[in-house]
Amino acid sequence: MARLDQNSETMARPKSYIDAYDFDQCTECGECLYECIYKDLTKDQAIENISKMRQGDVAVCEAMLDQCVFCYNCSYSCPVNANPAALMFERLHERRNRERGVPASLQYIINGMESQGWTHNLFQDLYTDHNKDEKEIIAKWSEPKDCNDGDLLWCSCASRVFPYDIEQSHVLSGLQKFGGKSDCCGLPAFRSGLFDVGRFLANNLIDRFSQCRFKRLVVMCGSCQDMFQLALPEYFGQEFPFEMISVYQYLDEQIQNGNFQIKRQVTVDEKENTCIFHSCFGYKFGKDYLSCIKRLYQAVGFDCMELVHNGENNACCGMGGVYRQGNLWDIMNVKGVKKKDLKKSNKENILAYCYGCYFTSHLSQGGTTHFLLEKVLWALGDEIKYPISGILGRSFNFSSFIHMIGIIPSALF
Ligand code: SF4
Ligand code: SF4
Repeated sequence: MARLDQNSETMARPKSYIDAYDFDQCTECGECLYECIYKDLTKDQAIENISKMRQGDVAVCEAMLDQCVFCYNCSYSCPVNANPAALMFERLHERRNRERGVPASLQYIINGMESQGWTHNLFQDLYTDHNKDEKEIIAKWSEPKDCNDGDLLWCSCASRVFPYDIEQSHVLSGLQKFGGKSDCCGLPAFRSGLFDVGRFLANNLIDRFSQCRFKRLVVMCGSCQDMFQLALPEYFGQEFPFEMISVYQYLDEQIQNGNFQIKRQVTVDEKENTCIFHSCFGYKFGKDYLSCIKRLYQAVGFDCMELVHNGENNACCGMGGVYRQGNLWDIMNVKGVKKKDLKKSNKENILAYCYGCYFTSHLSQGGTTHFLLEKVLWALGDEIKYPISGILGRSFNFSSFIHMIGIIPSALF
């Protein structure tokens, strides 16, 4: 499979986010900023601010960026499909250029950049806590795979934190697994305003996939799916050159075909006391994807309640705040909307289907957070030896402690 070359002379590749924004179509109606649930603007203020953002007024851009989670929702409000989310990303990209360097805390959460001199990384630190078995699994997953006409399971940065149960899973035993320590889709970089870093990482990963042989790529992580399926064509002018489905679609497909049977379900309390925490990519992936998520959680036994903000107006788990500046307070600030929704729901527990949503809510939301993938594997008969709820134990080790001290100034101030 040929590499998608950003320097190709035969194809003009977009050079920045702004190429995905239809500058000429925009009528400066202000709907995008007015409808945004992270801004509290009157219609007149929204019209004035979008006009100044389009002109590149730095003070207004900075104020709007500090109230943005880069969730793409404003693009759904635009009556002329100008894609205002791309304008937000462009202004974020300009902020990164003004800073002349990537904040240390942002560098720390983006995997795969060691070759470019980014020395410390959260995922690499989490992997240092792997035991002997887990280290062997990651080494095995790093090697290119020949699946002939079968499916290949892409094990993303987050899914590699707990590799044991994926490798041992009876449910996933029909899939070969692939994903080395530094393989990253580039989506966190893309959402942080680092356009070139996102493209560099995505292309490196496409090169790695090209060394494997498979029919379909089964993707464990929604962020990776977002990068491959939506961001690459929309922002980078590149089609992802492989057939791809999410792991949820794969599991749903196998259940529908009668290949997998549900063997156990959650308790009555879990069934009745849980709400679904949609991720920022859920609505973007479309109705079929969301129906599949619903079929799966119902199969596991959940009767999930929807939160007030969902669909086009879905609220962010908090993770989107970190893309502004790599500052941890922004996570706390952003997750306030979802927290209020949760309070209104009168439900104690959360069901998340995105790793980012799981980690943010498990570490800060109260109640129990369930992870849909883990629950489905369990319901289909897998034993879970290292539950994802053990993430806190993996997060603090000698390496992460030392490196986190180094990023405190940019993470907290
Ligand atoms: S990307 Fe999301 S948070 Fe940012 S302006 Fe658009 S809707 Fe608001
Ligand atoms: S981007 Fe769309 S919604 Fe926003 S001001 Fe322009 S036309 Fe209106």
